Amino acid sequence: MIAHPQLSVVIPVYNEEAGLPALFARIYPALDALDVPYEVIFVNDGSRDRSAALLREQFTARPDVTRVILFNANYGQHLAILAGFERVRGERIVTLDADLQNPPEEIGKLLAVMDGGADYVGGVRRNREDVWWRRAASRLMNRLRERITRIRMTDQGCMLRAYSRDIVDAIVAAREVSTFIPALAYTFAHHPAEVDVLHEERAAGESKYSMYRLMRLNFDLVTGFSLVPLQLFSVVGMIVAIGSVVLYAVVIVERAITGGVLEGLKAVWDRDILEFFLIGCIMFGVGLLGEYVGRIYQQVRERPRYVIRAVLEREHDDVDLPHRPAESVRAIR
Ligand code: UDP
Ligand code: MG
Repeated sequence: MIAHPQLSVVIPVYNEEAGLPALFARIYPALDALDVPYEVIFVNDGSRDRSAALLREQFTARPDVTRVILFNANYGQHLAILAGFERVRGERIVTLDADLQNPPEEIGKLLAVMDGGADYVGGVRRNREDVWWRRAASRLMNRLRERITRIRMTDQGCMLRAYSRDIVDAIVAAREVSTFIPALAYTFAHHPAEVDVLHEERAAGESKYSMYRLMRLNFDLVTGFSLVPLQLFSVVGMIVAIGSVVLYAVVIVERAITGGVLEGLKAVWDRDILEFFLIGCIMFGVGLLGEYVGRIYQQVRERPRYVIRAVLEREHDDVDLPHRPAESVRAIR
């Protein structure tokens, strides 16, 4: 086992048995071609298929450069990456999806940009191979994020990214319970950069993101990095409230003039549309509050963010994991 690899590649794996053999066949030659000491860290995010078994096999086949972290359950892609981040030994860290949508041969491009001085390099998928509604939703969320946060990224959803060790250490130290790693990394970066990368269709299996999970992820992004939705809501709520009072006054006065005072007062009950609108606003507001309260709740509970069932790695003399938190150490059996 290499004690000090230059490059650590972190790959989250969730029910990817169909694609893993192809990934193994491509990732090692691609990394060998870079000619730097490397390690690959697979994080099995509680897969229910044979992924864990395949990863074990792969560890036996290439124990010199392979490490495997096995979660006890499914905690999501970003926490899986985080578990990898907590244990990386390299100076540069690259994240990559397991489904070969991010071609491993593109890693060199990211590293070349780092050679030029960047400490954080985001991939940008120019020819994105996903269904149209995913592309449309992604465009929308990228634009929204541009407006309400200070985070400037062209393609926040692309997980083919390179991070310097400093940034990864800062991400690990952040201790957030649910997060969006590319955005968090940006807030710690001094010289963020971007580079176009290829994108391929999923090699095998299917996407792990349903519409619901995508919505959850994007709520994490928005509420995790911006208070604007909360503030915007109170501003809009105020405008709506004042507006509706003014509208009532106008309607009551107008009807009182044309039909007498009694007719005017009846206008108070003429409010169907307004009511729907206000109820909608209130519900949205409560929901949004819930998002923030939920985050506070999770944060104050201070539960371990995940539980590691096992770590497969070869012993080496020079253990150098200063930032390994007690929680994951305790969890190892
Ligand atoms: N993934 C994970 N845990 C999850 C969902 C996904 O580790 O709960 C992994 C998955 O195995 C893949 C990567 O995250 O390596 C991206 O997932 P996917 O390809 O399904 O997302 P999409 O490309 O459709 O956005
Ligand atoms: Mg994918």
